[in-house]
Amino acid sequence: MVSSSVLGFPRIGGNREVKKAVEAYWAGKLSAEQLLEATAEVRKVSWKDLKERGVDYIPSGEFSLYDHVLDHATAFNVIPSRYLGQDLSPLDIYFAMGRGRQADGVDVPASEMKKWFDSNYHFVVPEFSESTDFKLNLNRALISYKEAKAAGYVTRPVVLGPLTFLLLGKAGKDAKPGFEPISLLPKLLPIYTQLLSELKAEGVEWVQIDEPVLVLDSAEKYAAEFTSAYNELVKNSPKILLTTYFGRLDSNLKFVSKLPVAGLHIDLDREPGQLDAVLAAIKDTPIVLSLGLVSGRNIWKTDFQAAIRLAQKAQDTLGPDRIIIATSSSLLHTPVSLASEKKLPAETKDWFSFALEKAREVAVIAAALSGSQDLRISSALEENRESIAKRRQFESTSDDQVRKRVAAITPDQLQRKSPFSVRRKAQQDHLKLPKFPTTTIGSFPQTKEIRAARAKFTKGEITAEEYEGFLKKEIEEVVRFQEKVGLDLLVHGEPERNDMVQYFGEQLQGFVFTQNGWVQSYGSRYVRPPIIVSDVSRAAPMTVKWSSYAQSVSSKPMKGMLTGPVTILNWSFPRVDVSREIQSKQLALALRDEVIDLESAGIQAIQVDEPAIREGLPLRRVDWDNYLTWAVDSFRLSTAGVKDTTQTHSHFCYSDFDDIFPSIQRLDADVISIEASKSDMKLLSTFKAFGYSNEIGPGVYDIHSPRVPGEQEIKDRVAAMLAHLSEDLLFINPDCGLKTRGWKETEASLKNLVAAARWARENY
Ligand code: GLN
Ligand code: ZN
Repeated sequence: MVSSSVLGFPRIGGNREVKKAVEAYWAGKLSAEQLLEATAEVRKVSWKDLKERGVDYIPSGEFSLYDHVLDHATAFNVIPSRYLGQDLSPLDIYFAMGRGRQADGVDVPASEMKKWFDSNYHFVVPEFSESTDFKLNLNRALISYKEAKAAGYVTRPVVLGPLTFLLLGKAGKDAKPGFEPISLLPKLLPIYTQLLSELKAEGVEWVQIDEPVLVLDSAEKYAAEFTSAYNELVKNSPKILLTTYFGRLDSNLKFVSKLPVAGLHIDLDREPGQLDAVLAAIKDTPIVLSLGLVSGRNIWKTDFQAAIRLAQKAQDTLGPDRIIIATSSSLLHTPVSLASEKKLPAETKDWFSFALEKAREVAVIAAALSGSQDLRISSALEENRESIAKRRQFESTSDDQVRKRVAAITPDQLQRKSPFSVRRKAQQDHLKLPKFPTTTIGSFPQTKEIRAARAKFTKGEITAEEYEGFLKKEIEEVVRFQEKVGLDLLVHGEPERNDMVQYFGEQLQGFVFTQNGWVQSYGSRYVRPPIIVSDVSRAAPMTVKWSSYAQSVSSKPMKGMLTGPVTILNWSFPRVDVSREIQSKQLALALRDEVIDLESAGIQAIQVDEPAIREGLPLRRVDWDNYLTWAVDSFRLSTAGVKDTTQTHSHFCYSDFDDIFPSIQRLDADVISIEASKSDMKLLSTFKAFGYSNEIGPGVYDIHSPRVPGEQEIKDRVAAMLAHLSEDLLFINPDCGLKTRGWKETEASLKNLVAAARWARENY
């Protein structure tokens, strides 16, 4: 019999119970007991839901109040000393590591967060050093297994693998220079052995050990460590299902297929092409293969026929008892259930599958492969066939005009009329910005009033005219404020935007939105990514009204503000029937029209934000070039249609450019602004070494904190920057948008920023 499994489930709860309970605990409105009670109930419901949908292997232990990597670190006693000795409960230490803590005389910043592979989920980076004292504070896998069992569910506990744990971590502050976390492996393994043997003693049949680093190039050099670690772990353990996801094993398969594990999970949603190689490699071993056929990363219904075709191949080689039909990864990256979507048109809703629907999918595919005669299975197969056929039909009725336009893109559309040096001269004459021009990244504080007005407008409590009047008043105030403070290149402040991607998605053709499609970004922060369902085009100008209104009330130049094509794509659920490249270019063409319309409306500087361009980088280096080519081309396509006199800007919230420098240069934006206040100045010397030629505004202060940077502090920073960058090319700006800041600190900070720029003009 073919069995089915789910690798992990969303933690938020069907009605966002977990998010609400966690935030209520932080606000002191729930006790620790109440928090644990509320979340236990959510786990129980998830197990029940998965069971009811016919899933054979149900996960436990992957639930988290904040982040599963943080759970694992604290359970293994990997807790930096700055969080200890403050008289905090283990739960509060845990949250302090996740989000920092500033109360009752305790003041510790949060640990660093990083993106979980190529997803928009962030994990808390574990910190290791020579003195890391591993201990099993808590056998979470065992506790959750028992919890589920008491509720009537036999589960497969999930544990983060030892290599992934160490390789995702970093050297802590107390580590000696050159320390590498992987050197702790021998010290770490006994703790895993303890954990696994306790599971075994409890009668656990299978344990899922996640080693997603196995889809990275860098794993190859740890073949020996993987081999020795797993040879050790299997000695006293339940059967181990080693899971890999988000990519392909490639050359790592050589050693992975020889590991003494009982099962291996591979991602066939992302990388169906790896199946043949994996089958050949494990055919003569006893390894059970878990086929990740149902996507854990998107919201599209699985095409059963295609999935069954692949699975059949595996079944023919390995036999039904050696295959499991599974989700490609944890379902953490999908919303809980389609059932709570009341506003999607029926036709559209039928294309989608959220976590609970996906759980049913794995069960149906497994039953179909086992030759089930159950009527419910045959009708599910039939319904799927019809639904997929309708979707294919819809896909074929694409927007011909958009497709033709993409097919007809010419190289000169990607090219500004003149090289940067010529444009720069033209822009100096035209914009007349002073040396060291000051500007901001776009948004100004999103106050309670702004959010309330938007909510009223959405609910129909105020008219469109009233809302527009409100926004114009806001814009004018923001413009006056910038004039008063003395900024040079102004912005309209973005009061009309709920979110930098959603705002554009809502106005473009080809997107739909969910009511409850929440996906965890980090901690209690969830986002609701728009879904691209068809060809994308612009129905009408999207921002021109606001930017030109702002320009009409000021004689200073106004900077138009758009979100870039790659960022809109990366922060949405993309289509799977056409490539990301095509979708990105469709977005780019829509934005190109917007850019040209802004220019025609008298806007002389236009910023196209691309903060997500880097996170879209493929996991394997061989795939980088292809991505960077179309990603950079998309940006150029959206911005290159303007005259030499129009200044194009772009913004990135990060500065880890080292390995993608040529692509940043190739964007050919006239000005880029980047984060530079948190990272050290090392970056700027890299810019210099690389010979970056265009204008650049490295953020002079960190807007993520309410702290006001002093005037002298900004001067020092500018001086340090000028040691690396040409004085003709430096813009002075904060490191990101100000929407999360209050007005008071915004005003104080920007005044200091302007003063520092004036000082620089006199001294350089
Ligand atoms: N223009 C946007 C803002 O200022 C940029 C936001 C971002 O980089 N994430 O809010
Ligand atoms: Zn930013």
